[in-house]
Amino acid sequence: MAKVYVTRKIPESGINLLREAGHEVKVSDKDGVLTKEELLAELSSESYDAVLCLLTDPINAEIMAAAPQAKIFANYAVGFNNINLADAKAAGVTITNTPGVLTDTVCEFTVALILSVTKRVVEADRFMRAGHYEGWAPELLLGNDLKGKTFGILGAGRIGCGVANAMKNGFGMRVIYYDITRSETLEKQIDCEFRETVEEVLQEADVVSVHVPLLDSTKHLINAERLAMMKPSASLINTSRGPVVDEVALVEALKNGIIRSAGIDVFENEPVMATGLAELDNVTITPHIASASEETRSKMSEIAAQNIIEFLAGRVPPNVVE
Ligand code: NAD
Repeated sequence: MAKVYVTRKIPESGINLLREAGHEVKVSDKDGVLTKEELLAELSSESYDAVLCLLTDPINAEIMAAAPQAKIFANYAVGFNNINLADAKAAGVTITNTPGVLTDTVCEFTVALILSVTKRVVEADRFMRAGHYEGWAPELLLGNDLKGKTFGILGAGRIGCGVANAMKNGFGMRVIYYDITRSETLEKQIDCEFRETVEEVLQEADVVSVHVPLLDSTKHLINAERLAMMKPSASLINTSRGPVVDEVALVEALKNGIIRSAGIDVFENEPVMATGLAELDNVTITPHIASASEETRSKMSEIAAQNIIEFLAGRVPPNVVE
């Protein structure tokens, strides 16, 4: 029997799997993110063999050293920018993530943001609740149509491709994309066009959706200069990671009509938002919930648990991150 530490309460299904596999599981009872000191104290309090951590837990050499027996840290997320992979390698710690299961739900959520900003759904809701509605009017809260417009994807991986497919086949948009790797499969699947640069996508698209991982090379991929290349009528959607978009530049662009609207699920300094963002009507902002469906969060819990179970059984876990 091995000891597993889970850094925050997650859906029970994964915890049950770990227990059914004969492991002892301790789940943090704090209703929130553990501070670094709290996590260090928890990990040093017992000799844990595995840790199930969340994207809100920064994991580095110091944290890993607090649980020297734990040679697997299973991240409850597809992204793993919270983990220092070089430190993990040096400490001989295996890192896993939960890819695949989030794809459909994040795609659906991204479509929800696209519709919200182009049809001004959330803005209209606020308008109604504020008691501003005085009857039907020909030019009240005019949005934009999607059919026949151009949809631009930055990062055509699992989620980017899924959203591209939905916008092409569900809404009749023309799709262009930029990725560091050209995907002929995607091009065949949904008849979309590759662009050689980020700039080309930004200049041409009516809606741009960002789906790159957060890496040194993608930090501020969207900055003031690049926002200025977008059409003034365009919308920007970000369900990837906050630091991929320069949030201060985004606020300025939305305020000054550089772009028309944005749908943002992730922020540079979560849970804090850039000054001014929340005051803008032309942005839909959501608290990093793109994968937050009951079904998906349970599946993520099971996959993270399964990675630990396989590792503790001496096998290679299915979702090792290199
Ligand atoms: P993926 O690895 O399948 O796709 C990422 C794509 O980005 C790849 O095709 C890769 O080649 C491309 N890419 C990497 N660097 C690039 C660059 N500089 N320019 C252009 N393209 C580049 O990942 P995925 O499953 O599609 O997820 C994408 C990201 O979405 C994750 O890394 C995660 O951070 C984020 N995410 C967010 C939520 C949420 O709750 N908001 C949920 C799930 C995933």
